[in-house]
Order: sequence, then C-alpha cells, then structure tokens
Amino acid sequence: MTFTRRDILAASALLAASRPMSAFAAVTSLPRDADVVVVGAGAAGIAAARKIMAAGRKVVVIEATAQVGGRCQTDTSMFGVPFDRGASRLYNPDINPLAKLARGAGVDIANVASGQKIRIGRRNARAGEAEDFLATLVRANRAIDDHARTVGKIDLPCANLLPKDLVDWAGATEFVLGPAATGRDLKDLSAADQFRALDRDTAAVCRQGLGTLVAKLADTVPVVVSSPVTRIVWSGRELSVETQSGKVVARAIIVTASTGVLNAGKIRFSPDLPKRQVDAFARLPLGSTDRIAIELPGNPLGLGRDDVLIEQSTNNRTATLFANINMSSLCMVDVAGSFGRDLAAQGEGAMVAFAKEWLTKLFGSGAAEAVKRTAVTRWDAAPYALGAMSGALPGAQPMRRVLAEPLGNLFFAGEATHETMWGTVGGAWESGERAAESALRRLSGVKEPATDAEKPARKQRPRPQRVAPAAGDLLGPTGGTRPR
Ligand SMILES: Cc1cc2nc3c(=O)[nH]c(=O)nc-3n(C[C@H](O)[C@H](O)[C@H](O)COP(=O)(O)OP(=O)(O)OC[C@H]3O[C@@H](n4cnc5c(N)ncnc54)[C@H](O)[C@@H]3O)c2cc1C
Repeated sequence: MTFTRRDILAASALLAASRPMSAFAAVTSLPRDADVVVVGAGAAGIAAARKIMAAGRKVVVIEATAQVGGRCQTDTSMFGVPFDRGASRLYNPDINPLAKLARGAGVDIANVASGQKIRIGRRNARAGEAEDFLATLVRANRAIDDHARTVGKIDLPCANLLPKDLVDWAGATEFVLGPAATGRDLKDLSAADQFRALDRDTAAVCRQGLGTLVAKLADTVPVVVSSPVTRIVWSGRELSVETQSGKVVARAIIVTASTGVLNAGKIRFSPDLPKRQVDAFARLPLGSTDRIAIELPGNPLGLGRDDVLIEQSTNNRTATLFANINMSSLCMVDVAGSFGRDLAAQGEGAMVAFAKEWLTKLFGSGAAEAVKRTAVTRWDAAPYALGAMSGALPGAQPMRRVLAEPLGNLFFAGEATHETMWGTVGGAWESGERAAESALRRLSGVKEPATDAEKPARKQRPRPQRVAPAAGDLLGPTGGTRPR
C-alpha cells in the first residue's frame, strides 16, 4: 500500500489536533466533603462523575495516578502520532456511548474492518483457507454458545467445549476467542461469560486516540490526581474516603478501581466487605494484554491502513499485529493470555525480541531489520491497573451482577460489573452511568428494592433485644452466590 501526500497531510492535521492532551479540571487539593466521591478516573469514573454533575450534585473524582483515563491512555510524544497504550477500539460504534460523545468532544472516529488478515508461515492465507478459518471460528463459537444456552447451569471452561476436529486451525481459534479477545486462555474462561458477551463484530478507532477522547470527556470533571485512596469507611450515614493527604466525607461513594486492584487489597474497607463481594472480585480476575509498539517506516510488510493480522499458529507463542495505525508507520504487536503475561514479566528487551522474531517468522528478516523506535506496555505491573480486562472464571458469570449491587450508599462500577460489555471501554462507561443513577436515586431518597447483598443471606433468628438492625446486619455476610 502507498500513502499519498494528501493522506500524510491529513495525518499531520490529526496529530496537531491531538496535542496537547486535554486539560481536565484538575483540583489541587481534596475538598472536605462531596455528595458523591468517585474513586478512579478511568472511563467508568468519568462517566459517573459527569452524570452526577449533570444532576447538580457535588462530586469529586480521586485518582491514584497522575493522569485521567485509567486503561485508556494515548501517548502522543513517543512516536509523534497517537499511540493508544491501552484500549484503542470502540466496539459496536452504533450503540457505544463513547462513539456518540466523540463528535461533541472534537475527536474523529472511523470505522475499521472487523476481520483479520491471516498469515500461514511466510504467505497470506488463500481465500479458501480464510473461509475455512472463518467457518471454524463459527463452529467453535456455536459449540460454546450451545453449551451455555442448553446446560447453562453447569458452566465449563470454553476450552473444554471446542470441537475436537479444528486441526490446523486449533491454535488460531483458541488465540482469537481467548487471549486476543479477552486476555485470558480459553481454559480459564467461563463459557457462560462468553455466551453473554455482546458480539464485537464492528469497531471504530479514534483518530486522535481513544485515551485522548476519554481525557477530553473529563474536561469539566473535578479530578484530584496522584492521590491513591487507601481506605473507605462505608458504614452508617457518614461515609468517607481516605488518602495520604486527607479524607473526604461523602453521602455516596462509587469505586471504579479494577478487580486487580481490589483483589490486591490496595483499598481497605471499613467495615470489611461482605464475602460475596470479595468472592466476586476474586473470581473476575484481570487477564493480560500488552502492546509492543514498533515503528516500521516505508510499510515493509505491505499491509493496509489499520489492518489486523494473525497467523495460523501452532502454539501459544503468537500475537496480533495492528498495522499502519491511522496510516502512520506505527504498528503494534499485541501479546496476551498466559504467554503474554509471562513475556511481559521478562521485561521490555524480551518483548521487543519476541516481536522481531515473530515478524521474521511471518515476513522474513527484512521486517525485523526495518524496525526503528519501539515501546512496550506492561499493564500487569501497572500498580493501579494490575492487568488488562476482567474475565469470569468458570462458574463466575453471575458475579458480575453481584459486583454491581449497591451496599447501602457504596457502589462499584467499572468494566467488570457489566454483564454483557465487560472488558470494554463502552461497558465501563455504561457501568459508571448506571452506578451514578443509582447513587442519585439514593441521595434523593427514592427507595429501591433491596439487593441480594442487602438482604439477610440466611434466615435470621429473632433477636429480641434489638429494636432496629445495625447497618452491618443488613449486608448478608455469607459466602457464595445463589444460582441464577
Ligand atoms: C492493552 C489493552 C487493550 C485494550 N483494548 C481495548 C479495546 O480495544 N477496546 C475496548 O473497549 N477495551 C479495551 N481494553 C479494555 C479497557 O481498557 C477497559 O475495559 C476499560 O478502560 C476499563 O475502564 P474502567 O473505568 O472500568 O477501569 P480503569 O480504566 O482501570 O479505571 C480505574 C481507575 O481507578 C484508578 N485507581 C485504581 N486504584 C485506585 C485507588 N486506590 N485510588 C484512586 N484511584 C485508583 C486507576 O488508576 C484508574 O484510573 C483494553 C485494555 C488493555 C489493557
């Protein structure tokens, strides 16, 4: 593919438009109080805060890192073009809440082809082979869905349900349905979770970067950055959020930290959370996805703008190539699942070496020799993410709903709480809006039916001495989830 001068001029204009990064309404010090405190300034937190502001309530977002965006970060300095270090695609742009907001934020979005090109060794797959792969993917997906639909109560790992005759396409099928889509190997992924996931058949990219879009949407949101929340007090009427530089008293709190962060115990809760919530974090752990960004000037791979390429792999040492991002020479080799996790743990050198080795295998040594600047992400080691996106362990799909249940005036939001759009920015955004709506209803005194978490989980013996139950008694601190 060749790029015309016009393309290059258009790319330069986009780059100029993407600089500087949006200046969010940073607040330098913590307020004493707020109607609602939102923990975390990722997509869910920004969405929640915007809803609360629109309702005329006082909100503050407290963010651990120095930036907004969470797992949506666009770097414009490294390569001189927008490099999305985290999420880069808006799935289902027709219904994606962020796609609708992009225009108002001055960010251009463009639909991209949903399929991948396939490499078999050093050549492209022929049309018949590509069709064969597509048919194999459809069969594998159907096997998972059929199981979940018909014997849904006995959830199984997706890997157990794959047809046994995938032959040459077994590796690519496992990679595409597992690590590439969810950051997890199919053996660790619930069939019910896959079945419930909204298809991600169509996608769009933000020309200035998806992280830029989320940051622009935070423009008017009061965010206190570089302030990790260490403790949340959520019993009784007065709730509070504590950081090293002080505490904020709130009437409601929305926590959007990833399940990785919650599992690591980085935020202490007082009183302790009910066991069913703690179990929910544990059984919705984050998978692993990382990017090895490489500059390949002159398009030596001969691929098109925003092309996506996979290989007919024979083992899990494989990747997805996102080529010529926004018609620049920036390409990304994404590694994921257990292989990606192990590779990223070995550090930048090992990651870049793998990318070059993989490109050499598929395109010859000239491809690796053409690589100029490189950069990598290591989301598993990012202290306030600790992974890429949540995936339900077998049997844990209902935990997404458990996680989204309010505990009095304490709410959880974030991608892991979305039952069908989990693992996506759109799901995170929607979950933040929902949590904000619930919090606003509580603040207005609108009674909502008690959630499972708020009902006593087992029959309580009458306790004659007590006139009214204490808040802690309403939380049902027993383990396990009920079957749904
Ligand atoms: C490499 C990669 C590629 C991806 N690709 C896509 C894609 O193409 N499309 C897509 O839809 N999704 C993609 N995802 C997933 C997507 O990024 C996430 O689902 C989404 O961004 C999660 O948003 P969130 O608000 O739920 O969580 P987060 O973005 O994690 O936001 C939570 C915020 O809370 C902050 N925080 C954590 N702990 C504390 C604390 N103690 N105190 C204060 N703040 C705290 C964090 O710093 C963070 O800013 C990708 C993810 C990765 C890593």
